[in-house]
This record gives sequence, C-alpha cells and structure tokens, in this order.
Amino acid sequence: MTTERELICIICPVGCVMRLFPDGEGSAPPRVEGADCAKGREYAEREATDPRRALTSTVKVRGGCFPLVSARSSAPLPKHMLLPAAASLRGISLQAPVAAGQVILPDIMGTGTALLATGTVERKKFH
Ligand code: SF4
Repeated sequence: MTTERELICIICPVGCVMRLFPDGEGSAPPRVEGADCAKGREYAEREATDPRRALTSTVKVRGGCFPLVSARSSAPLPKHMLLPAAASLRGISLQAPVAAGQVILPDIMGTGTALLATGTVERKKFH
C-alpha cells in the first residue's frame, strides 16, 4: 500500500468510514483510523494486505428443469483469483438433479475452497 485510502466497513450495519495509512516499517500492518471496533480494524488490515471476496456464479446443468444452477464458494477467495476462477467454471456441467448445498468442486483452483450449489434443479420430466 503506498497511499492513504478510505474504506467503508461492511462488517456491520454501522458502516464506519475508515482511513488506511501506508504501513511504516517492513511488514508492519497499515495504520487504521475510524474503526469503532477490533473487527473493523481487522477487516481494514485484511483489505490492505489480502483482499478476499466470495465467488458467485452459475454452472450448466444437463437434463434439468433449468439450464443453470447458482453457485457460491464456501469461503472468500483472494480477489485476484475471482476472474480466473469464474472462467474455470465454464467447462463444467452437472447432471440433474442438483441439490442446494451439493459440492460442485471440492477445491477451486487449489485454494482449498469448495464451490457449492446454492439452488436446486430437478430432473426434467418428459411426457
Ligand atoms: S468498525 Fe466495527 S462498528 Fe464500525 S462498521 Fe465495522 S464492525 Fe461495525
């Protein structure tokens, strides 16, 4: 981190406006101002050093009532991996039925984080 930056805490509804100042010596954590609690300071430090986000996407389904099922990572991924991880899902297709909570991938790109279905897709009925 090289310049001062402003950040709104998303940990609770209070939404404290925090300011991050460049770290001083070596690997010292950045200085945080404006956080009303330790959780907010921790969030700001993580945003400065290792920002992470949940991956949300859809995956193709074969033979289902819907052609896609929604999916989400079981934990946040490093922010720089979100686009490659989303792109890696394009070649995947599941066979219906798909249940909410089903593991689609046990380990997204070697992160140790699973991709889970967040919706249900029943098998398509033929009459
Ligand atoms: S710093 Fe603490 S009180 Fe402020 S928004 Fe974050 S979690 Fe809430």
